[in-house]
Amino acid sequence: MNETIKKNLVTLAILQRTDAARETIEKYLSGVDQRIEGLSQRLSVVEQQVTEAQLQLDTLKKQYRADENETKSIEAGVAKSDAKLGSVKTNKEYQSILKEIDDLKVKKSAIEDRMIDMLEQLEAAEKQVKVLKADRVDLAREVEEQQNLIRKEAEAQSQELASLNQERDEIWAELDPKMQKIYGRAKHQGKGVAVAAVSDGVCQVCRINIPPQAFIELMRLDSMSMCPNCQRIIYPKAIIEGA
Ligand SMILES: [Zn+2]
Repeated sequence: MNETIKKNLVTLAILQRTDAARETIEKYLSGVDQRIEGLSQRLSVVEQQVTEAQLQLDTLKKQYRADENETKSIEAGVAKSDAKLGSVKTNKEYQSILKEIDDLKVKKSAIEDRMIDMLEQLEAAEKQVKVLKADRVDLAREVEEQQNLIRKEAEAQSQELASLNQERDEIWAELDPKMQKIYGRAKHQGKGVAVAAVSDGVCQVCRINIPPQAFIELMRLDSMSMCPNCQRIIYPKAIIEGA
């Protein structure tokens, strides 16, 4: 057994583990803004619903007031026509004013029917606004809580990443340039994973059995071995147990 080979393999395995941990955190951190934004979006949707419901309620109220004013002006018209009845000269004129009054009353009655329907709509719209506003308050609180949790977790992860980066730099500095090159190449070829443990004769990354002769050579630790299938640097899992 070559002690330098063994030491290098242990270092590479730890480097691999550190890199994997860093990548996991980097991936997590890269999704943080989107998660925070997604929560804000949920709130925006409810805020938009509140605005729309409020607008609908205001429109109904405006319509109701307009109808109210119109019935008053019709009443005034009826009173005016009533007053004219006393001073008419001809029967024809009299009949004409009566018809005018009748028409006004029919018109007023139609508006009043519409107002009664509108009262129901107003009640429903007011209820809708109230419910949506309560939803908005609840959701705003929930969104803020969740966003704070995410920010807190992201802050902790950032600190963890900083310490892993430092560890990585220290491990990297320990490696001789030849090993750095081998690691870099294996990482590139291994789609980001340079080093694989072998346990029970199986490469733990590609899950292929190491052929018996290659396995014997690996266990001797006389030279660096590559997995014949995935070409990653392999090491017997037992050498880093406890590392
Ligand atoms: Zn493999």
